[in-house]
Amino acid sequence: MTYMITSQCIECHRCESVCPTKAIIRNEQQYQINPERCNDCVGHYTVPQCWAACPTSGGCIPDLATLPQGISKKLSNDYWEDWFNFYNQLILRLKANHQTEYWRRWFDRYSQALSRQLHSPTLHTPTSVGVHP
Ligand code: SF4
Ligand code: SF4
Repeated sequence: MTYMITSQCIECHRCESVCPTKAIIRNEQQYQINPERCNDCVGHYTVPQCWAACPTSGGCIPDLATLPQGISKKLSNDYWEDWFNFYNQLILRLKANHQTEYWRRWFDRYSQALSRQLHSPTLHTPTSVGVHP
Protein backbone atom coordinates (compact mmCIF):
# COMPACT_ATOMS: atom_id res chain seq x y z
CA MET A 1 0.00 0.00 0.00
CA THR A 2 1.12 3.54 -0.66
CA TYR A 3 0.00 6.94 0.57
CA MET A 4 -1.50 9.81 -1.40
CA ILE A 5 -1.92 13.56 -1.02
CA THR A 6 -5.40 14.99 -1.44
CA SER A 7 -6.96 18.37 -2.13
CA GLN A 8 -7.02 18.96 1.64
CA CYS A 9 -3.27 19.51 1.57
CA ILE A 10 -2.43 23.00 2.81
CA GLU A 11 1.10 22.88 1.36
CA CYS A 12 2.89 23.18 4.66
CA HIS A 13 5.93 21.37 3.15
CA ARG A 14 6.41 19.12 6.19
CA CYS A 15 6.00 15.76 4.48
CA GLU A 16 8.49 16.36 1.71
CA SER A 17 11.55 16.45 3.96
CA VAL A 18 10.58 13.47 6.13
CA CYS A 19 9.95 10.93 3.38
CA PRO A 20 12.83 8.42 3.44
CA THR A 21 12.35 7.33 -0.17
CA LYS A 22 12.06 10.79 -1.76
CA ALA A 23 8.62 9.77 -3.03
CA ILE A 24 7.02 13.16 -2.39
CA ILE A 25 7.39 15.68 -5.15
CA ARG A 26 5.97 19.10 -5.84
CA ASN A 27 4.34 19.16 -9.23
CA GLU A 28 2.60 22.24 -10.65
CA GLN A 29 2.10 23.81 -7.23
CA GLN A 30 0.74 20.58 -5.76
CA TYR A 31 2.38 17.88 -3.70
CA GLN A 32 2.12 14.35 -5.01
CA ILE A 33 3.39 10.95 -3.92
CA ASN A 34 5.07 8.79 -6.50
CA PRO A 35 3.57 5.31 -5.91
CA GLU A 36 6.60 3.75 -7.55
CA ARG A 37 8.82 5.11 -4.79
CA CYS A 38 6.48 5.05 -1.77
CA ASN A 39 6.97 1.84 0.24
CA ASP A 40 4.91 2.79 3.31
CA CYS A 41 8.20 3.65 5.05
CA VAL A 42 8.86 -0.07 5.55
CA GLY A 43 12.47 -0.61 6.53
CA HIS A 44 12.85 3.00 7.67
CA TYR A 45 10.15 3.79 10.21
CA THR A 46 7.32 1.98 11.95
CA VAL A 47 4.85 4.76 11.09
CA PRO A 48 4.38 6.36 7.65
CA GLN A 49 6.19 9.64 8.06
CA CYS A 50 4.13 11.73 5.65
CA TRP A 51 0.94 10.75 7.44
CA ALA A 52 2.51 11.33 10.87
CA ALA A 53 3.88 14.75 9.92
CA CYS A 54 0.77 16.05 8.19
CA PRO A 55 -1.08 18.64 10.29
CA THR A 56 -4.36 18.02 8.46
CA SER A 57 -6.67 15.07 9.01
CA GLY A 58 -7.19 14.33 5.34
CA GLY A 59 -4.30 15.88 3.42
CA CYS A 60 -2.20 12.72 3.43
CA ILE A 61 -4.05 9.40 3.51
CA PRO A 62 -3.59 5.73 2.57
CA ASP A 63 -4.23 5.14 -1.11
CA LEU A 64 -7.03 2.59 -0.89
CA ALA A 65 -6.55 1.59 -4.50
CA THR A 66 -3.24 0.03 -3.45
CA LEU A 67 -4.51 -1.90 -0.42
CA PRO A 68 -3.53 -5.58 -0.33
CA GLN A 69 -6.16 -8.08 -1.43
CA GLY A 70 -8.63 -9.00 1.31
CA ILE A 71 -8.69 -5.55 2.92
CA SER A 72 -12.01 -3.72 2.71
CA LYS A 73 -12.06 -0.53 0.66
CA LYS A 74 -15.36 0.71 2.06
CA LEU A 75 -15.19 4.18 3.55
CA SER A 76 -17.41 5.96 6.04
CA ASN A 77 -17.48 9.69 6.59
CA ASP A 78 -15.29 9.40 9.66
CA TYR A 79 -11.54 9.58 9.11
CA TRP A 80 -10.58 7.79 12.38
CA GLU A 81 -13.23 5.11 11.99
CA ASP A 82 -11.78 4.31 8.57
CA TRP A 83 -8.25 4.39 9.94
CA PHE A 84 -8.97 1.95 12.78
CA ASN A 85 -11.05 -0.23 10.51
CA PHE A 86 -8.16 -0.54 8.11
CA TYR A 87 -5.66 -1.10 10.93
CA ASN A 88 -7.76 -3.85 12.54
CA GLN A 89 -8.28 -5.60 9.23
CA LEU A 90 -4.58 -5.51 8.53
CA ILE A 91 -3.76 -7.02 11.92
CA LEU A 92 -6.36 -9.77 11.53
CA ARG A 93 -5.02 -10.58 8.09
CA LEU A 94 -1.44 -10.77 9.30
CA LYS A 95 -2.40 -12.84 12.33
CA ALA A 96 -3.97 -15.36 10.00
CA ASN A 97 -0.62 -15.78 8.30
CA HIS A 98 2.67 -16.88 9.71
CA GLN A 99 4.07 -13.97 11.74
CA THR A 100 7.73 -13.38 11.40
CA GLU A 101 9.70 -11.83 14.25
CA TYR A 102 10.04 -8.65 12.19
CA TRP A 103 6.29 -8.15 11.88
CA ARG A 104 5.62 -9.08 15.50
CA ARG A 105 8.06 -6.38 16.61
CA TRP A 106 6.67 -3.95 14.00
CA PHE A 107 3.12 -4.24 15.38
CA ASP A 108 4.31 -4.12 18.98
CA ARG A 109 6.12 -0.84 18.36
CA TYR A 110 3.32 0.57 16.22
CA SER A 111 0.71 -0.25 18.84
CA GLN A 112 2.80 1.29 21.58
CA ALA A 113 3.32 4.50 19.58
CA LEU A 114 -0.39 4.67 18.79
CA SER A 115 -1.31 4.09 22.42
CA ARG A 116 1.02 6.90 23.51
CA GLN A 117 -0.59 9.24 20.98
CA LEU A 118 -4.10 8.33 22.05
CA HIS A 119 -3.27 8.95 25.70
CA SER A 120 -1.39 12.17 25.02
CA PRO A 121 -2.88 15.15 26.89
CA THR A 122 -2.41 17.22 23.72
CA LEU A 123 -4.76 14.99 21.72
CA HIS A 124 -7.95 16.90 21.12
CA THR A 125 -11.16 14.94 21.16
CA PRO A 126 -14.12 16.23 19.21
CA THR A 127 -16.64 18.13 21.29
CA SER A 128 -20.33 17.65 20.70
CA VAL A 129 -22.31 20.37 19.07
CA GLY A 130 -25.98 21.17 19.56
CA VAL A 131 -28.06 21.42 22.69
CA HIS A 132 -29.55 18.54 24.62
CA PRO A 133 -33.29 18.90 25.16
S1 SF4 B 1 4.50 6.48 3.39
FE1 SF4 B 1 6.71 6.87 3.75
S2 SF4 B 1 7.69 6.31 1.79
FE2 SF4 B 1 5.51 6.64 1.35
S3 SF4 B 1 5.37 8.79 0.74
FE3 SF4 B 1 4.90 8.68 2.94
S4 SF4 B 1 6.89 9.11 3.92
FE4 SF4 B 1 7.33 8.55 1.79
S1 SF4 C 1 2.32 17.49 5.38
FE1 SF4 C 1 0.15 17.37 4.68
S2 SF4 C 1 -0.53 19.50 4.43
FE2 SF4 C 1 1.73 19.53 4.53
S3 SF4 C 1 2.41 19.45 2.39
FE3 SF4 C 1 2.34 17.33 3.11
S4 SF4 C 1 0.27 16.57 2.59
FE4 SF4 C 1 0.26 18.81 2.43
